[in-house]
Amino acid sequence: MIEETVLDILNEYKVKEPPVPVDEIAQKCGINIGRAPSDDFSGFLLRKADNSFIGVNSNDSHPRQRFTIAHELGHYFLHKTKKAFVDYPGTNAEIAFRDNKHNLVRTRSEIEANKFAAALLMPAKHLLEDFSLLRKEELMHLDEKISYLAERYKVSREAMTYRLIDLKLSA
Ligand SMILES: [Zn+2]
Repeated sequence: MIEETVLDILNEYKVKEPPVPVDEIAQKCGINIGRAPSDDFSGFLLRKADNSFIGVNSNDSHPRQRFTIAHELGHYFLHKTKKAFVDYPGTNAEIAFRDNKHNLVRTRSEIEANKFAAALLMPAKHLLEDFSLLRKEELMHLDEKISYLAERYKVSREAMTYRLIDLKLSA
């Protein structure tokens, strides 16, 4: 479902190759992006009828900021009934499933937003193509392939590693 939603967006905004222009996609959706330094949040989304807003922590690395924007776009497209999301560094599956029901629901939406972000920044179609081209590079270690792909898609090595595992391209 998430992959399909992302595919529609990639088609609608005619994304032909990486890196996926997440800033541009947000703007075309009528979402303004603002950047400011923070010791606290990594990003947030405020949803309004005609002008929504994504805030990004400008202290974060460029790949991290791109992931934040993609993550907030995930909330924007997947969680339409909620008006605001604030995301903190380290908000992930590890803190899930140990608290009350409210936390559980919040965590599920965070996992979904992260899945959306990975799918948007590293489209399956492009990544499968790129990875199959790299198969010919027999002397290249997996580590180097991950670095090359992370650079090409403008994501962190960590994000690329998870995505490759998710697509069963490495394990
Ligand atoms: Zn979130």
